[in-house]
Amino acid sequence: MLQNTMNVSEAESFPSDKSPKEILTNSMPEGDPNSNTDITKEEESKPRWGPNHKGAKELANLYSSGKRLQEIICFSLGIMLMAVNFVLMVKYLSWEAVPSMVLCALLGMLSADFSSGIVHWAADTWGSIDMPILGKNFLRPFREHHIDPTSITRHDFIETNGDNMALILLPLLRMLYQLSTLTEAQIQDSYAWFSYVYLLAVFVALTNQIHKWSHTYFGLPWYVTLLQDSRVILPRRHHRIHHVAPHDTYYCITTGWLDWPLERLGFWGRLEATVSWLTGAVPRDDDMRWAQKRS
Ligand SMILES: [Zn+2]
Ligand SMILES: [Zn+2]
Repeated sequence: MLQNTMNVSEAESFPSDKSPKEILTNSMPEGDPNSNTDITKEEESKPRWGPNHKGAKELANLYSSGKRLQEIICFSLGIMLMAVNFVLMVKYLSWEAVPSMVLCALLGMLSADFSSGIVHWAADTWGSIDMPILGKNFLRPFREHHIDPTSITRHDFIETNGDNMALILLPLLRMLYQLSTLTEAQIQDSYAWFSYVYLLAVFVALTNQIHKWSHTYFGLPWYVTLLQDSRVILPRRHHRIHHVAPHDTYYCITTGWLDWPLERLGFWGRLEATVSWLTGAVPRDDDMRWAQKRS
């Protein structure tokens, strides 16, 4: 049997309310992502996680050609809008704007991290695959990811990034309109705001790629591991804390900077208690249903 890819001292190196033992026993080892031989005899016939999990197979088969087309369109438009807006931002850049740009870069990263947490929390906790349009197209990857976390490492560039690109289309389209129609003086006045919106969009667009890297235990380029180790982007051991069943914390997946403060505040628990009180819905009901489809 392969050893779990994380030992107790590594599990202790990121602050969390989960104990190292809980992390090690209630999340899938990711050192053997494709065949998952690090499993017990019982799990061999009824896998708890991984590509042989019955629910994971069913969810993987729901990835349709229509969904693929949507991802290709969103990805192409997103890249185009990022490039055109970048050229316009460079055109209006002045040296005096640099300090405010650096501040906006940090605020943009922080906002992207928080947005990733909100979207991830909402998709993990509520709704179901049976919902029209939303279910099979946008909730499916979240359900699949919990029972087969390493499936993301087998997704190509389009499948990984298509949906995040969809989120940035409208803000970048609006920005393009403003940069094309406002006067130069008006653009200079709002340059810090444009920098914030642009960097927020870039980090939202990069979020699932960063998330994919946090599940990749082999062959990462040195600069990605450097960024992970220096905690500029989501580190692997940090994200492992989210993957402890029942997946109820550490939802932020861009930089992960907000995970610990939000856990200390009990933010996600309070938010879902409010939603349950208002709607009567049970948190992670659908997620649990898919996790139990083991045979
Ligand atoms: Zn999740
Ligand atoms: Zn993950």
